[in-house]
Amino acid sequence: MKLIHNILGNIRTSFQIEESVKVVFVALVFSVLSICSAIAQSATDYRILFDKRNAGDGVLKIECAFTIDFAERDSITLDFGGPLQEETIQELHITPDNIRYSLNPSSKHITFYRNHKDKERVRMEYIYMNLTSVLMYGESGAEIWESIYSSSGEFYYPMRRGVEYSARVKFSVPESLIVVSHSGIDATKWHKENRCVPLNFAFLNREKYARQRMTGRYGCEVYQVIGEQVDSMRYEQLCRFVEESIQWFEEKYGEKYLCNRYGTTTYPAFIFHNGNSSFNRYNMGFISASQEKFATYPDIYPIIHEIGHRWMGEYTMFINSGERGYAFIIETLNEFMTLMCIRDIVGAEVYEAILNSYRANWEEIRGTEQDVHPVDVTDNNNIPVTYRKGIVMLDSIAQELGYDTVISRIVQFYNECNGKPNLQYGDFERMCGLIHHKLHIE
Ligand SMILES: [Zn+2]
Repeated sequence: MKLIHNILGNIRTSFQIEESVKVVFVALVFSVLSICSAIAQSATDYRILFDKRNAGDGVLKIECAFTIDFAERDSITLDFGGPLQEETIQELHITPDNIRYSLNPSSKHITFYRNHKDKERVRMEYIYMNLTSVLMYGESGAEIWESIYSSSGEFYYPMRRGVEYSARVKFSVPESLIVVSHSGIDATKWHKENRCVPLNFAFLNREKYARQRMTGRYGCEVYQVIGEQVDSMRYEQLCRFVEESIQWFEEKYGEKYLCNRYGTTTYPAFIFHNGNSSFNRYNMGFISASQEKFATYPDIYPIIHEIGHRWMGEYTMFINSGERGYAFIIETLNEFMTLMCIRDIVGAEVYEAILNSYRANWEEIRGTEQDVHPVDVTDNNNIPVTYRKGIVMLDSIAQELGYDTVISRIVQFYNECNGKPNLQYGDFERMCGLIHHKLHIE
């Protein structure tokens, strides 16, 4: 808690600093389309300004407007807020003045109540403090804003998980910052027909980052910390893995990387940060990973795992944290598919070596309290089980049933269940009964 207050102190001070500004406009016009047609109420036609001028680390001034359709119900509840609870949203001003609402910082919800009209245009202005961004990336020259669905959740504008909406967005940033967003890099003009759930973006210090563009079919942007860039061999390896893994996943899942519905309108940009080194993330539209690990880790296979999250991950498979099977679906299945990709594009020997190291990792905790069933990990907090034991178990099932069979079952599960609201482990059990059955025979 003390740490949080120190951070807030710094944020408040630096928020006062004046800087010369440059306005970057990015506009996204999203079609109105609800993934969940059962929910008739909606918030859409968003207009959002993310204002980074005069703001310190992890802070944004946000102005947003949207139209609520109550669909004859009395209220609508949206996800809004973050881990700092009462401190997350400050100086909140909502119009029209007569709109009734209640803000619940602990559940990260805002509820609006209907007055007379079924449709209401709401305008909000506030300062948002993003604890996740400050803790993970503070002082690293990179600040990543990512709506996080898990219990640590970060919802910096009112939205509803898994629901698409129409929106126009604009960033105002000082000259010193580069904006990286899913809609393209350094975007300075309005874009049409982009959709996304939700809006993720990064601010990079122009003086700390070197930018490269990959040659080859995808032309991905790569941002590395100046003075810490990897040698050409590693860089070439990154380019090769990006190209070959995207092709591999596209072919297996039968679905292209680019997909409006999941906010991937460009091939990923890679942002290598100096924040928490264990923080590699698929942020939609871009992938953030540790610069130090990129340079020093024995291999760069974790990057393939992040690419795999474009398909199997929290932005496509809407299982809530806390649910049985949460980490298994979001992470174990993706890691297994990642290793299947490595087996094909790097080689079976490398695959075997990784698998043996995973067996050894599991061995270290075997029989301890931590050694639970991979399906029983309800939060992403058990690395040896979720990323090691689960893979070893799936591998032995694949040896029995055939690797192609297990891959195609997982693909089928993805194809039928991505975008499904309130996904449950039971959906996997129903669709992949044989794998489920074998997972539960010790
Ligand atoms: Zn992951």
